[in-house]
Amino acid sequence: LHADYDPDNIFAKMLRGEVPCVKVFEDDVALAFMDIFPQAEGHTLVIPKDVEARNLLEMPKDKLGPYMKRVQKVTKAVEKALKPDGIVVTQFNGAPAGQTVYHLHFHIIPRREGEPLGR
Ligand code: 5GP
Repeated sequence: LHADYDPDNIFAKMLRGEVPCVKVFEDDVALAFMDIFPQAEGHTLVIPKDVEARNLLEMPKDKLGPYMKRVQKVTKAVEKALKPDGIVVTQFNGAPAGQTVYHLHFHIIPRREGEPLGR
C-alpha cells in the first residue's frame, strides 16, 4: 500500500466494477482490457489486482512476478489473436514520463510493418 495511491483512480474503479471496460483477460492476479483511446488496433492494458501501486516503482516485489506472468500471457494472446508484425510493451512512471492514470499498467500495443508509431 502506497501513501500516495488514490483509490478513486479510474482503473481502481474498474477493478471494483464501478466503471465498465472491455475485458479480455481476468484472474485473481490481473485484469486486462481494451484501451479506450487505442494507439493501434488491439491496444490492451494489463493491471494488477489487490495492490495499491501507482507504477512499477511502487509494486511490491512479491506481487511483481505473478503480475508479469500475466503481462506475458496477455501479450501472447494478443500475438495469437491479431498476428501483428511486432508488439510494443510499455509502462510509464510519473507524469513527465507520460503517465496519466495512477494504477500500475502495462500497455500492449500491436504494431504493423510501416505503421507510424503513435507515441
Ligand atoms: P498512461 O499514459 O497512464 O500510461 O496510460 C493510460 C491509458 O489509459 C491511456 O492509454 C488511456 O487511453 C487509457 N484510459 C484512460 N481512461 C480510460 C478508461 O476509462 N477506459 C479505458 N479502457 N482506458 C482508459
